[in-house]
Amino acid sequence: MALVLDGNRTRDEILAELGPRVAALAAAGRPPGLAVVLVGHNPASEIYVRNKIKASAALGIHSETLTPPESASTEDVLRVVEELNRRPEIDGILVQLPLPAQVDAKRVLLAISPDKDADGLHPANAGRLMANLPGPRACTPAGILELLKRYRLPIAGKRAVVVGRSDIVGKPMAMLLLHENATVTMCHSKTPDLAGVCREADILVAAIGRAAMVDRHFIKPGATVIDVGMNRLERAEDVARVFRNSPEKLAVFEKRGSVLVGDVDPAAMAECAGAYTPVPGGVGPLTIAMLMANTVAAAERRSALC
Ligand code: NAP
Repeated sequence: MALVLDGNRTRDEILAELGPRVAALAAAGRPPGLAVVLVGHNPASEIYVRNKIKASAALGIHSETLTPPESASTEDVLRVVEELNRRPEIDGILVQLPLPAQVDAKRVLLAISPDKDADGLHPANAGRLMANLPGPRACTPAGILELLKRYRLPIAGKRAVVVGRSDIVGKPMAMLLLHENATVTMCHSKTPDLAGVCREADILVAAIGRAAMVDRHFIKPGATVIDVGMNRLERAEDVARVFRNSPEKLAVFEKRGSVLVGDVDPAAMAECAGAYTPVPGGVGPLTIAMLMANTVAAAERRSALC
């Protein structure tokens, strides 16, 4: 039986450990402050932001959402970020992606003060990760590393394969695994014999954005499989194919008209992997936990400087 890596449980552990640190900061003057910039109306982004604000409130972190309109220009968003950079009670700034097409996302992310970069995506912090210096790490890969460590899954000396090379997940994931002394291979859409490369992995991380693409031919028996993907299936034939053996998921689809699936075929993962993250309930909850961790750490660093 494969070990199911429970992201909800690990999130709760991480948040419980952050609680006393938040309380200590509050007792010393003020709680950590997180500002989320949500430009326009993207229904998925609105849900993500609501969850981030809810998690902050539950932990006692001061949070606020700034909502420039859909028509906002790059300059408008830059002004919002610059004001947040100046405000002393804000420790973490997060600009929710994607931004409307007319806004230059790279300029906006560069404008965030690296000290307040709650998402760990500023090039200065990507550089700190590369150099293995302390600093905020990209939340999703940092959460995955935390999960592997808390489950005491060995990393040093293992073959790790990361599929996907985004700045948000794939690249920082590979770097974090490298710093833990894994032998890391990065794959992408131009990688020949992708299944063959993945089959060499003791630790396989799929961050692709293609529903259930990674099937049993990609998984070495007993490997640890981390499924980052979050894809919504909306066609009955896709749901029937992917969840053929799962009456519960078929029932979810009947009720809601869609069902969530990762980048890894769930049946293949359960049958072939030694340990794996389910979707939902695997990687997703960790991302918010690490956002909270980055915000608390930023507040501690900044309060030490005052
Ligand atoms: P992204 O920026 O779209 O990057 C996708 C990567 O996958 C790219 O590097 C791309 O290669 C590669 N790829 C695409 N098709 C491929 C194929 N057929 N074979 C091999 N590689 C392929 O995506 P992302 O932001 O990293 O997100 C990836 C997935 O994770 C999405 O489903 C996203 O929703 C999910 N996600 C989840 C969380 C969470 O908290 N659970 C957080 C972030 C993202 P090229 O570079 O060659 O194009």
